[in-house]
Amino acid sequence: MQLSETVQKLKPSATIAAAAKARELKNTGVHVYEFTLGEPDFVTPEHICEAAREAIAAGHTHYTAATGIAELKQAICSRYLQDHGLEYSPSQVVVSNGAKHSIHNVLTALCGPGDEVIIPTPYWVSYSALVELTGATPVEVETTQDSGFCLSAEQFSAAITPRTRLLMLNNPCNPTGGAYPVETLEALAKVAVERDIPVLSDEIYEKLIYEGSTFRSFATFGEEVAKRTIIVSGVSKAYAMTGWRIGWTLAPADLTAAMSKLQSQETSNPCSISQYAAVAALEGSQDCVETMRQEFARRREYVLGRLRSLPDISFAEPGGAFYAFFDVSRHFGRKLGGGVQVNDASEFCTALLEQAHVALVTGDAFGAPGYVRLSFATNLSVLEAGFDRLEAFLKG
Ligand code: PMP
Ligand code: GLU
Repeated sequence: MQLSETVQKLKPSATIAAAAKARELKNTGVHVYEFTLGEPDFVTPEHICEAAREAIAAGHTHYTAATGIAELKQAICSRYLQDHGLEYSPSQVVVSNGAKHSIHNVLTALCGPGDEVIIPTPYWVSYSALVELTGATPVEVETTQDSGFCLSAEQFSAAITPRTRLLMLNNPCNPTGGAYPVETLEALAKVAVERDIPVLSDEIYEKLIYEGSTFRSFATFGEEVAKRTIIVSGVSKAYAMTGWRIGWTLAPADLTAAMSKLQSQETSNPCSISQYAAVAALEGSQDCVETMRQEFARRREYVLGRLRSLPDISFAEPGGAFYAFFDVSRHFGRKLGGGVQVNDASEFCTALLEQAHVALVTGDAFGAPGYVRLSFATNLSVLEAGFDRLEAFLKG
């Protein structure tokens, strides 16, 4: 069949592809140490599952309003008021099938051919692909390990052209774990207002912040900033609800109306049952979020300890999320485990999987050649065994 040019150009999600490759090897009977997908290994808290069962029993199994049920929109607004002092009205909320879908909605509503979207690298794998789907051009701006992989106001300013439609910011960041300091955010916000550039602020990891870092929502820097901010978030990471597929945007009313129209045509509504579960997540006790965060914090400490003792790698400590992102380029051209030699991060990941049965994701997927990403959303004993094997692989 003749496929569209758009879809022919589209790359599959590299994180999902890496997980599939690991699964393939697992299916042949090999024990694989899996650190690819960014998804919490915890089960969804029981009170959230119970709310879903109750929703089914109550017959909430039909279409809902395209942008979500009123209870969920209200629960989202209440949480932002309580957590960030931000006043949003339900008319500014669009609930979607996960934050990835929310990002797609924003980009489709704002961008088209000829437009430019500024994306700091390293970036989450789907950002550039979703921008390209709209026909717009991703403008990648490189951030470095020294700055904790944070975009500076100067870099943002220098990347703006008359065609710039949007800045995509991810705080804390996937894949680096970089958490933006408040002063950096404030400076970026100032540029956004002065140059009148909307900012998509992907805050899906906001609850996963570790000692020494803080989180501040981009919309909190005043009314002029809020007018230009689109918050993207969801329940996947904070509540271990990746499979339920609930994300949202908080945006100015005109953009919300545009996305609402779009969503009514492309998907009707997000799953009714998941929406009731998300209400329970947001309105119920937040203790489960803290319990999971503390467990991630323990794993992070362990991972940092192991990374510090690996030969010839470098990294910036992740302040948030559940990823370690490290530079393995000094190992290129050397003899690694099994006598294999590699020339880039993708070859490194392939060799590591084949020789040591450890699955990571190549930095190439995140616009960061030379790096690899390890998700520590898995238990300590798997991390320990995985690091033992990684260390042995590096030592050749
Ligand atoms: N943004 C970032 C930075 C992510 O890492 C992810 C996926 N892990 C998403 C958005 C999408 O999350 P979901 O679609 O599961 O809500
Ligand atoms: N976003 C997660 C990750 O980076 C899940 C996979 C995906 O949606 O790409 O691993």
